[in-house]
Parts: sequence; structure tokens; C-alpha cells
Amino acid sequence: MKTETKTHQPKKRTLLIATGNRGKFTEIAHEFEDCPVNCLSLKDLPPVDECEETESDFEGNAKLKARYYANKFHFLTLADDSGLEVDALNGQPGVFSARFAGEPCDDQANNDKLIRELAGIPQHRRTARFRCVMAIADENGTIVETTQADIEGEIIDTPRGDNGFGYDPHFLVPDMGKTTAEISMAEKNKISHRGKAARKMRKKLQKFLCS
Ligand code: IMP
Repeated sequence: MKTETKTHQPKKRTLLIATGNRGKFTEIAHEFEDCPVNCLSLKDLPPVDECEETESDFEGNAKLKARYYANKFHFLTLADDSGLEVDALNGQPGVFSARFAGEPCDDQANNDKLIRELAGIPQHRRTARFRCVMAIADENGTIVETTQADIEGEIIDTPRGDNGFGYDPHFLVPDMGKTTAEISMAEKNKISHRGKAARKMRKKLQKFLCS
């Protein structure tokens, strides 16, 4: 006769990862695989109006989005905000990264504007970073955790590589001698602002769920 061994499993909570982007969802959900959560994306839920990103920094927008979607759906909710900060442009495009060249959002137009604005600036002054802030709100819309991470690089005029998205073809990681569009998604995830912020969040989430 087969004997069943029962192990104690903490009750799984639903974690809404507040994005409609399947690629981003898969990337973030992958980091939470060993947490007692069932991950959902906005695509798994009835459509709601998108949260307007009205804050002036990444942290403000990440918190705003986490609160907004937690209040709509009453799940534990993770939201992130990320973008590019270029030192020679006083931190621009920052929270305007997606719409640097105006609406509708267009990666090519954003990159063209970036390179135009950096014209005449020598390579050693083209330092930049991608930054990501993540926030989790509980089912009542109260922020319970935040994390932040960066990846340092510099902006090059000539695009290189076909992977990634956004500013990746112009973002050189000097230690690697490659742009973030020249490395695989798995390699990028190990070093990227989003990958690092998600791994920091995994640790915090595990503690939070056990408290
Ligand atoms: P979001 O926070 O994912 O909406 O990203 C805002 C914008 O920042 C994107 O539309 C991109 O222009 C830029 N961005 C953020 N992360 C990356 C990245 O990993 N590579 C390239 N561009 C990025």
C-alpha cells in the first residue's frame, strides 16, 4: 500500500504583477518561482483603465501603480517603473523614457532624439544607467515593500545588436564590451536593473509572506 507523506505548505497568495507585457511578466514571475505565490498579469484579469504615471520619479510611479491596481483587484500587487538616466542630460529622459520623443511611444524616435541631444558630447561624458524601482502593495492598497537597482553603462552613437527593446542598442556595458541588445535575455536578466530589483524583491517578499 502506498503511504502518503504530508508536508506543510504555506497557503499560496495571489501576486498580481501589474503589467500587460507578457515578456516582462514572464521575466519577473520567473524570479518568484520559489515564493508561495500564484502570479497573474493584467492580461489575466478584466480590462481596467491604465494607471496614469503622474509622479516625478520612478519610486513615485511604481508606488502609484501598485496602489492603483491593488485597489482595483484586491490582490497583493507588484508594479515597477524603469527608465534611462543620462548624466550629460541631467538625468533625462528618466520617467519620460518611454515617451521621450512624444506620444505615441516609439523606440526608434526616442533613440534618434537621444543621439541628437548627445551630439558633440565626448564618449567619456556619456555615462548613463538604467534604473528600476519595484513596489508591492497589499490587498488593501498599502505599500509593504520597495526595491531599487541600476545597471551602469554609456551611450554610443551607432546602434549594436538585435535583442532587447527601448534604448538597448545604444546602451554599452563597458565591462562586457557589448550593448544590452547584444546579449541574450537570460544574460541581461542576470545583470539588469529589473533582474536585480526583482531578486531583491524576492527576498523581501519571502520575509513578508512569513511574517
Ligand atoms: P517601463 O518602466 O517598462 O515602462 O519602461 C519605460 C521605458 O524605459 C521603456 O519604454 C524604455 O524606453 C526604457 N527602458 C526601461 N528598461 C529598459 C531596458 O532594459 N532596456 C531598454 N530600455 C529600457
